[in-house]
Amino acid sequence: MIATIMRLSRYFLPVSKDVPADAAIVSHQLMLRTGMVRQNGAGIYTWLPLGFKVLQKIEQIVREEMDRAGAIELLMPTIQQAELWEESGRYDDYGKEMLRITDRHDREMLFGPTNEELITDVFRAYVKSYKALPLNLYHTQWKFRDEIRPRFGVMRGREFLMKDAYSFDLTEEAARASYNRMFCAYLNAFDRMGLKAVPMQADTGPIGGDLSHEFIVLADTGESAVFCDRDLLDMGAPGLDLDFEADLTGEVEKRTSLYAATEEMHDEAAFAAVPSDRQVSARGIEVGHIFFFGTKYSKPMNAMVQTADGTNVPVQMGSYGIGVSRLVGGIIEACHDENGIVWPKAVSPFDVGLISMRPKDEAVSTAADDAYAALTHAGLDVLYDETDERPGSKFNRMDLIGLPWQIVIGPRGVEAGQVELKHRKSGEKFDVTLEDAIAKVK
Ligand code: ATP
Ligand code: MG
Ligand code: MG
Ligand code: MG
Repeated sequence: MIATIMRLSRYFLPVSKDVPADAAIVSHQLMLRTGMVRQNGAGIYTWLPLGFKVLQKIEQIVREEMDRAGAIELLMPTIQQAELWEESGRYDDYGKEMLRITDRHDREMLFGPTNEELITDVFRAYVKSYKALPLNLYHTQWKFRDEIRPRFGVMRGREFLMKDAYSFDLTEEAARASYNRMFCAYLNAFDRMGLKAVPMQADTGPIGGDLSHEFIVLADTGESAVFCDRDLLDMGAPGLDLDFEADLTGEVEKRTSLYAATEEMHDEAAFAAVPSDRQVSARGIEVGHIFFFGTKYSKPMNAMVQTADGTNVPVQMGSYGIGVSRLVGGIIEACHDENGIVWPKAVSPFDVGLISMRPKDEAVSTAADDAYAALTHAGLDVLYDETDERPGSKFNRMDLIGLPWQIVIGPRGVEAGQVELKHRKSGEKFDVTLEDAIAKVK
């Protein structure tokens, strides 16, 4: 990625002290205070520059982990034709959460709340043989759901950004392998974002079957009640060196054999069998959801593939969603303190904040400009605060927006040939040379 060159005096960072009373949870409050988003309507937001950077970082991590697992990116439209949904039988079932639109020719359309129908239509148009399988197609696209109660800022928006992937396989067994690849890729993606997301047995609704997991981040402000074995919280992600060509059943079973369920699937008796010191009963945020649904769409929509012996069978499908925009709020819920956001390095809008304590002092401003050049040269994203404000308000603002590191250039340090390096999370400060500071931040 190209390093961003950004002087605060030229940036668009509308930090604000006023938080509307309806911002009930800390992530929503902090996103408004740091000027990450602006609400335009119930559950509809403009992503201001700082928020948009984080959104893109999350999207990119998800993209890399989807690609690593063998999924292939495309882009489907936001607006869909009602006909496809009539074919699957969901047009009437979906109800009021679907935003229905009529065009000038009185054609019924909708703003997509999800894309099973559309991707099945793409698949059936091109794929006729088992030889093209397995196939996994994904995109990251805006969705619209007319939520009855949009709230908590971007956590429950009406317009929101989702990564959704769709797998196609010949047999149920192969479809399970596709499911396992997504299961592991999700754990790796959330881990890279600095999040602990626990896979939990989830409700499959009217579709049935046992293959559905929600990925849950524990947080007091989460909307779901969840129950799990503490050992799951201590278990690491499969890791980026995982071989996605291999059989991943073991990786999945290692986790699914431990108790973890959302409220709808909770089984008191099974939970009671977990040793009591390992019983976790908490609240959580659903950041992802994966699903195997077999031929639910391929059958009614006639998405058939020819097998090796020449017969035609409906393709086995699964779908896999990640709430990209919800994650921005979810990460803040998990990563903040009394002074503001504390971004995990991988999703931070900038790598480092550079503060010039006295921009009017010639020696200080020269040293700060030099530091700025050296940091950007080292490939770091720098937000350079060379404004003329009081140091106190500059420090507070930098703490509030939560970049992992701060480098402070002041008169004493300039004289000693040092900078002050501050670690946002621990609050630790180090007097070091600029070179040492760069080495630490990288
Ligand atoms: P929820 O239970 O929170 O309503 P869902 O189960 O309806 O979510 P899915 O259909 O499983 O959502 O969609 C996949 C992912 O999209 C979810 O796991 C969640 O992270 C995200 N998501 C769903 N609805 C919203 C929303 N209104 N705002 C932001 N993200 C959402
Ligand atoms: Mg929902
Ligand atoms: Mg849900
Ligand atoms: Mg869900």
